[in-house]
Amino acid sequence: MITFDAFPFHQRQKELLLTAFNADRNSHAQLFHGPAGNGKFAIALAYVASLLCNLPGEKGACGTCPSCVQMAKFAHPDVQYIFPTYTNAAEKVSGLSDEFIAPWRTLLQKHLFFDYTDWKQHLGADTKKMEIRVKEAAAINKNLSYKSYSGGYKIVVIWLAETMNVATANKLLKNIEEPEEKTLILMISENRENLLATITSRVQSVFFPRLSEIEVQEVLRTKGVANVELLSQLSEGNLKTALDLSHQSAELDEIARRFAHWMRVCYTVNMKEIVGLSDQVSKTGREGARMFIYFAAQVIRQAVLLPHRSALHANNPVFSNTDFKIQNFSKLVHPENAGLILKVLDEAQEDIARFVNIKIVFTDLSIRMHYLLKRGVEAPFLQV
Ligand SMILES: [Zn+2]
Repeated sequence: MITFDAFPFHQRQKELLLTAFNADRNSHAQLFHGPAGNGKFAIALAYVASLLCNLPGEKGACGTCPSCVQMAKFAHPDVQYIFPTYTNAAEKVSGLSDEFIAPWRTLLQKHLFFDYTDWKQHLGADTKKMEIRVKEAAAINKNLSYKSYSGGYKIVVIWLAETMNVATANKLLKNIEEPEEKTLILMISENRENLLATITSRVQSVFFPRLSEIEVQEVLRTKGVANVELLSQLSEGNLKTALDLSHQSAELDEIARRFAHWMRVCYTVNMKEIVGLSDQVSKTGREGARMFIYFAAQVIRQAVLLPHRSALHANNPVFSNTDFKIQNFSKLVHPENAGLILKVLDEAQEDIARFVNIKIVFTDLSIRMHYLLKRGVEAPFLQV
């Protein structure tokens, strides 16, 4: 069901939108922005559902009328979804979102917290260039000029509006500046600063912050996920990550064990073990390797924060089957080297996403970790 009540998060933003909705003061161009993995897209759809609902109440969409049922199938005829795509002559796709609407719907049916990488992987787009092309602006313009099917609003949802190229954004400006009656252009963005200022200055912006651990836990509980406290702690407000990790719950134990071992061999710079571990990580595939490095970054963050946190965090249950003690580890990580460690982990994740050989990335990363953990400096021969 796509209603405000179905989503237990972003209370303040929901109230703000409902106030506008109940007063019938809905701006015709809006931008919902904030970090990846939060609930802005879900709330955006609940807002859209409310504007289109046949029997809306004070809390927006009813969730059960024909319009709401179509919304829940992501197939409402008055909603146009625009998102980054690719072009490919062999597949006979010219880059219009419409051509990708079937895979789009199957992804949305899983959950509404996915990010750009998920979408790209879902399409099997690998190294293809994904963006919102200028012909899409023409499609939006055409669509908005038609009458709505239901006699109410016509709505365009632009997911990851920052992937619009300059030509698209410029062309879209016309629709924003001279809107048709009862239309809404609703943009979703993870990087507002990557949008043209001419766009951001003409739309009503609503900021959606990172979700709290409590909010993440509530969503995980509604999905019947186990280990909710642990997952919310590890994911730090990113629901997408929490859900990804929940599918790997069985592997979490293994990841924790591997991480503990990795830190030991990085510290002692045992090259034989480092090569062996690089091999193991490489065998988990690109997604597995990314997850492992993500896990490492989260532990580093927690280790830095540990002196400022409650005793609760000192015993992370994920390490209960290992001899890893985060209290001891936190002595190796301090404000001076933590930033650099997170930076090299970030770079490794990017390299993996760019299809660099995982074994090479991981071996290089291990040596850098050695220098940063033991000496608190970047590896001299790897500095750029
Ligand atoms: Zn309804």
